[in-house]
Amino acid sequence: MDLFSCLSPFVFCSFASGSSGNCYFVGKQDEGVLVDVGISALQVTTGLRKNDLGMNNVKAILVTHDHIDHVKGLEILTKQHPIPIFAHADCLQGLAEGKATKAIDNGLFHEVEPGVPFSIADIRIESFPVMHDGRGAMGYRFDFEGHTLTIATDIGMLDNVVKEQIRHADNIVIEANYDVEMLEKGSYPYHLKQRISGPFGHLSNIESARFLAEIYHPGIKNIMLCHLSENNNTPERAMQCLYEQFRKHHVRPDVNTSIFPLPRHKGTGFVYL
Ligand SMILES: [Zn+2]
Ligand SMILES: [Zn+2]
Repeated sequence: MDLFSCLSPFVFCSFASGSSGNCYFVGKQDEGVLVDVGISALQVTTGLRKNDLGMNNVKAILVTHDHIDHVKGLEILTKQHPIPIFAHADCLQGLAEGKATKAIDNGLFHEVEPGVPFSIADIRIESFPVMHDGRGAMGYRFDFEGHTLTIATDIGMLDNVVKEQIRHADNIVIEANYDVEMLEKGSYPYHLKQRISGPFGHLSNIESARFLAEIYHPGIKNIMLCHLSENNNTPERAMQCLYEQFRKHHVRPDVNTSIFPLPRHKGTGFVYL
């Protein structure tokens, strides 16, 4: 067996992750979906090309919610490449009214109901509601030939619905937005600090780390920390916090589990799921 036939046919890559823009590709190596387009259309096509992909390999765009860091490039990208957009009805309404998105062709809109699975490019997709102050905020879980990926970004609080979706995935993209101390001591105004740390804001390093330490098992292939804040976090702090919680819970991650933060502005290349 050569090296490439050992690799999973199911891949993920990130083109950007964080409050200045989010965009991921999930799929087989030749066809799949984008999750969010919070970067420019040019950045998306450049990111795809670096992985030998083009927009012809993208069969749909799934949107998590209507905040600008998730939809910034959606209008121009879909003008150039009219492909279906899947999102919660409230999010689609938000896109239809949003300054940066209101000119998107509504004919591309497809409503997604949380908990009702659908299929694109043979990948089973299920969405689930998350607590966040964007309209129709949802996470997504992907299943393909026994491999599972859950993307849980922009979450104020890990409720049981989200926990279950992450617990049963062998690949996890989970938010680690801020370091509690950096946010507290930082220069953000009080109301913004309250919003970020509130139940409809974002997940802190410690919140996701505690949960990951609680559910970790050696069958998990990839843990990717996403949506790190530029001002209130560093990749080192997020990773340090996770390993501290692992130690506290006597968790020793298996050598086959990859754990890493998604870069804010750079792409990751293929992550085999
Ligand atoms: Zn965001
Ligand atoms: Zn958001």
